[in-house]
Amino acid sequence: MAADGTIFGAMLEEFSGAARILNLEPGIWKILTNPKRQIIVACPVQMDDGRIEVFTGYRVQYNITLGPGKGGIRYHPDVSLDEVRALAAWMTWKCAVAHIPFGGAKGGIICDPTKMSRRELEALTRRYVAEIIDAIGPEKDVPAPDVNTNAQVMAWIMDTYSMHVGHTTTSVVTGKPIELGGSLGRREATGRGVMISTRESAKHLGLDITKARVAIQGFGNVGSISAQLIGELGAKIVAVSDWKGGVFNEKGLDVPALMAYAETHDHSVDGFPGGEPLTNEQLFKLDVDVLIPAALENQITAKNASSIRAKIVVEGANGPTTPDAHMQLHQRGVFVVPDILANSGGVTASYFEWVQDRYGYFWNEQEVNDRLEAKMHEAFNAVLQTALKYKIDMRTAAYVVAIDRVATVTKMRGMYA
Ligand code: GLU
Repeated sequence: MAADGTIFGAMLEEFSGAARILNLEPGIWKILTNPKRQIIVACPVQMDDGRIEVFTGYRVQYNITLGPGKGGIRYHPDVSLDEVRALAAWMTWKCAVAHIPFGGAKGGIICDPTKMSRRELEALTRRYVAEIIDAIGPEKDVPAPDVNTNAQVMAWIMDTYSMHVGHTTTSVVTGKPIELGGSLGRREATGRGVMISTRESAKHLGLDITKARVAIQGFGNVGSISAQLIGELGAKIVAVSDWKGGVFNEKGLDVPALMAYAETHDHSVDGFPGGEPLTNEQLFKLDVDVLIPAALENQITAKNASSIRAKIVVEGANGPTTPDAHMQLHQRGVFVVPDILANSGGVTASYFEWVQDRYGYFWNEQEVNDRLEAKMHEAFNAVLQTALKYKIDMRTAAYVVAIDRVATVTKMRGMYA
């Protein structure tokens, strides 16, 4: 949350710090701080009990200078235009940092998927796609999974779009099931990128990752895979918390067992027998080396930032740290790997999926992982070198890299009309 109380305002604060360092021209500044296109749609759905409900959906294409819009779609009761706009802007900077030929977009629907049947979710998804169909497409805007959406939802999106255009178009969406044009390694890619960011940060700070203690907030796709892969490096995952509860084990949690437990317990770690219960607030105060917020926005705030003891914070979620909290952490010497770098593994693998769909030729999992490793390395080093060059924090450095790339192409393309 920013001084003005909005999430988009927080994005603007982050942007401004970097734009000043770049001496960005006022005209380009204006272009890059205005969303290009914002779509609001009403999606009527007949519910299982016969009643008609109307859901509000959004798709914001923040900037498409570098290529088609790219970004997930989230289903959550707290979705708002402000949130989707900020997330679309973050996708713009994320794709630029990842150095992939995409602009930034994001979508969301105000709904509570935990209270909806599979049929209702399918009907809502198809109606939402039909409402935004003119704005999406392989060359226009390519959605993907985000909070509470998954491969099945992507399959419905792909099918609805394909039915409308009259032919199967796999590259309209990424994060699809493998059987219908998905990429091996995509589901794990965000967590893999978080692991690579964690490992590289530890290397940079001279911290032995095999002895590191790690706490993770969130155990969805990003949190759970991050826990698994960082655990495989030899680090101890001592705590995990989620929307329902949390669990702590001084000796390190058995991550595969925790994943199996969550699978059969409402997708939550709450009540896991291999540790003691722990609250979300307690998790942030733990004496750990690495803290990974991998849930929603605004989790590390001015209220709890001072109690964080981790040396490294790796943002698996988008926007988990408010600008004032970030300032506090930076001043205390905490090494924060910002969302637009730390969780860019997901969209990078989405790019690989889009390429494979358009090429009609699919890579094996090792190939995907090797390419992801190379791209994450390139991105991490570009940001780290920028941080060292200007003596700035990693977030501002990531924005400097991203804004510079988008601004350069904006100027090259010139002004139309
Ligand atoms: N929702 C993910 C993100 O926030 C992935 C987006 C994508 O793959 O397009 O980065």
